[in-house]
Amino acid sequence: MIPYGSHSINDDDVNAVIDVLKNEFLTQGEQVPLFEQNLCRYTGAKYAVACNSGTSGLHLACLATGIGPGDKVWTSPNSFAASANCARYCGADIDFVDIDPVTRNMSVSALKHKLQQAEHNGTLPKAIVVVHFAGVSCDMKAIAELTSYYDIILIEDAAHGLGGKDADSKPIGQAVYSDFVVLSFHPVKSVTTAEGGAVLTNSDVYAKSLRLYASHGISRDKSQFPADEQASGWFYAQQALGFNYRLSDLHAALGNSQIKRLDEFVAKRLALAKRYDEALCSLPLIRPVLDENSAWHLYVVELQNGHRRETFDALREHGIGVNVHYIPIYRHPYYQALGFDPKDYPACEQYYRNAITLPLFPALSADMQDKVIMTLDEVLK
Ligand SMILES: *Cc1c(COP(=O)(O)O)cnc(C)c1O
Repeated sequence: MIPYGSHSINDDDVNAVIDVLKNEFLTQGEQVPLFEQNLCRYTGAKYAVACNSGTSGLHLACLATGIGPGDKVWTSPNSFAASANCARYCGADIDFVDIDPVTRNMSVSALKHKLQQAEHNGTLPKAIVVVHFAGVSCDMKAIAELTSYYDIILIEDAAHGLGGKDADSKPIGQAVYSDFVVLSFHPVKSVTTAEGGAVLTNSDVYAKSLRLYASHGISRDKSQFPADEQASGWFYAQQALGFNYRLSDLHAALGNSQIKRLDEFVAKRLALAKRYDEALCSLPLIRPVLDENSAWHLYVVELQNGHRRETFDALREHGIGVNVHYIPIYRHPYYQALGFDPKDYPACEQYYRNAITLPLFPALSADMQDKVIMTLDEVLK
């Protein structure tokens, strides 16, 4: 089966991890701070706080802003559930803003409309989590104009976005318009640490808070100790109820090796996307916009034959590991039980009915891609 996504590991990656295994530190050694520096250098963000998954990164961003019960958080329904779960972990209410049918990202006009209504009803959200779906940047300038007008915290779920650029060709991750950018290093993402994530921010205060929550809420800053403990050599002070969300040095070493090839990975993905774009142009399907700034995490086509299930099954039977991104978050039973109605998200429903993700990853060869294209062509006949 040709998978829809896959990691690319070379000998340098393997050796980088083995080196750490032979070192003194398996966790909290030199590799994590180096990885954080590499992420800052690549994206241009002031701070990077590494953590053990993209999901914990999203949770940390919510914790750092003090999101809690009674607060509202909005996100895009066309995403992995973690984009919404992070708010629920903090006891906040979640709501969804419908998508733009062309970019498949949160619709700016739907957001504007929903914010106007919320202002009228006194139900404005405390934070908005936008998702750069498939690696295509959201319209950050327009969204940030709205969030700053309404004084709303802006979090970018950039799990798909590392290596991509925004409309002004600034790297996704620079956090020019937002408070936080969250990355994931799961094996299918731009670069991998096996499991891993990071939160990027330009705020000194948020960076401190992210670090505190990622390590049990424990501070080693003596000025924060009780007065009678400030002279002791053993004390550390738990200041808040944090988590163990730290990344290990083993994982960070893999990330440090992988990030050297990030631009190469994205270039390969773009070249494959261009090949799909040409090869599929005469088939009855909607191709993704050929965005040169995208990180090309996913290549999703929308069928026009009304037979997504049959097409999906036939492709899988022929060894093409297609997938569907995403089941709208509100359709999951957990979210259904919270009372969401798919009819409130017509663009996301329309997209979901027809979407199929084709294989796209740096190691996909031209021959494998040709097999995908030929099989799809046959199946659609
Ligand atoms: C992968 C992903 C996450 C979660 O990242 P993990 O590292 O797997 O926890 C969150 N949001 C989106 C959009 C993702 O694709």
